Amino acid sequence: MRTLRCFVEGRWWQAEAGFRPLINPCTEEPIAQASSSGLDFGAALAFARTTGGEALRSLTIPERAGLLAAMSKALHERRDELIELSLATCGTTRKDAKFDLDGATGTLYYYASLGKDLGDGVWQLDGDGVQLGRSARSWGQHLRLPKRGVAIHINAFNFPCWGFAEKAACALLAGVPVLTKPATSTAWLTERCVEIVVEAGILPRGSLSLVCGSLGDAFDHLQGQDVVAFTGSADTALRIREHRNLLRQGVAVNVEADSLNAAVLAPDVEEGSETLALFYRDVERELTQKSGQKCTAVRRIFAPRERLDEIQRELTERLSRVVVGNPAEPSVTMGPLATREQLDAAVHGVERLRAAATLVLGTGERVNGLGAAPGTGYFFGPTLLRREASAGAGVVHELEVFGPVATLLGYDGDAGTAAADVGASQGTLVTSLYSDDAGWIASYLRAGGATTGRVYLGSEKGADQAPGSGVALPQMLHGGPGRAGGGAELGGQRGLALYQQTVGVMGDRALVDRVAAQ
Ligand code: NAP
Repeated sequence: MRTLRCFVEGRWWQAEAGFRPLINPCTEEPIAQASSSGLDFGAALAFARTTGGEALRSLTIPERAGLLAAMSKALHERRDELIELSLATCGTTRKDAKFDLDGATGTLYYYASLGKDLGDGVWQLDGDGVQLGRSARSWGQHLRLPKRGVAIHINAFNFPCWGFAEKAACALLAGVPVLTKPATSTAWLTERCVEIVVEAGILPRGSLSLVCGSLGDAFDHLQGQDVVAFTGSADTALRIREHRNLLRQGVAVNVEADSLNAAVLAPDVEEGSETLALFYRDVERELTQKSGQKCTAVRRIFAPRERLDEIQRELTERLSRVVVGNPAEPSVTMGPLATREQLDAAVHGVERLRAAATLVLGTGERVNGLGAAPGTGYFFGPTLLRREASAGAGVVHELEVFGPVATLLGYDGDAGTAAADVGASQGTLVTSLYSDDAGWIASYLRAGGATTGRVYLGSEKGADQAPGSGVALPQMLHGGPGRAGGGAELGGQRGLALYQQTVGVMGDRALVDRVAAQ
């Protein structure tokens, strides 16, 4: 069985004990093991901070952008190999594997391009300078300097390539070294990505470290200039936020957590319209892509109450065509859930949702997968629930079932009602509004826009170019308030802010300007 390695202090390191298995979710066979037991986290972090940090900070932003471009190219050149590895170790379909990998290389490439437009310096100017006194010589200018710490990146199991790359792109461009920690269940793929980058000799020593296995006592060694960016469950996020040393040192913590994303169909959308067709396409994809294990997946579908029957009929028809099974079978369109724990959580979660809604598609139980031995594999079919009134739906607004599961909810068609009901989940990453009525959309935003990190508008004119609500494009903010974690990643330049210290420099204008231009 393969043993995954860590990459720290500029070299590969392998544990000898304390292993956790990686399981093939289609066959339930162990395929690899990972451990970080015995790793000296204090030394690993110190090396990253000093050797990696100094090297990155000595490069200009366009030079760092060049590193990202080379990473994107190196990973893209191994695209076929990485897709095969995703199929073999994560149980993802080919389409889902491409989504993860192309998302990774595309995001690296985007930040490589952005980095060429952020000036030629080692820091970024933050807006224009400002006159401070009566005389124009008294001047202030804000600069964004790279933090002098290390960025710890903790990722969820669902995007082993993209999760690693999207966080690394922002930190490295800002000039901060990265220690990336993938979720153990799908860490093999991330390990291979890091291996490819290391083998290509792209990054300065110390600027990228990898931990497969737990983070051990790493948090005890963090300092005030370090950063933690976490993606995963709200429970783990709470444990991280509460860590005594992180609180004592004031370490910046960014959290991307659970999200009960919503798709809202407005009353102006007519039968047979392009907007309605887009709504169906999007909802179907958001429910089934990556087997519904996407933080941006649609969990709640709101529609005017009188249209629930029509919408349920169309969605169940589409979702019934999904073929669940081992992606090695060419006809399979949706793979298994990632782990036994995720399967158990989905079964238990649907049981809980049934207290407030009626199951209209699926069994709420594990199913047999095509091309897998009967009774084996973490397969769970597309599952749709329905409730007539979105108000008072309790658990539907509180429980994220991380699988191909969503609930169809009726509302009265009013934008204010929809906003209030969507907001009952206390914060989403993305809310999709399907409407061609700008007035209705504006009313929704006034009433509830602040409860989400991103609003995706599905409309007649935009339908042919709509990327889908679940795509976290690097140009747009990824993060949401409240339950979604309160974090902010990506969003162009905004994604760099976590890794930068904004410093106001004030003094004589000529001197300030000369300093800022360095
Ligand atoms: P999880 O159990 O919280 O694990 C996430 C990551 O945290 C893994 O790398 C895990 O490592 C690590 N971890 C676990 N305990 C830790 C601790 N005490 N200290 C430091 N790290 C720790 O989440 P999950 O079940 O894998 O992921 C599913 C959840 O992630 C869902 O709720 C989903 O909504 C959320 N998610 C959110 C986003 C977003 O962008 N908002 C994206 C994807 C997923 P091990 O695997 O080694 O335990």
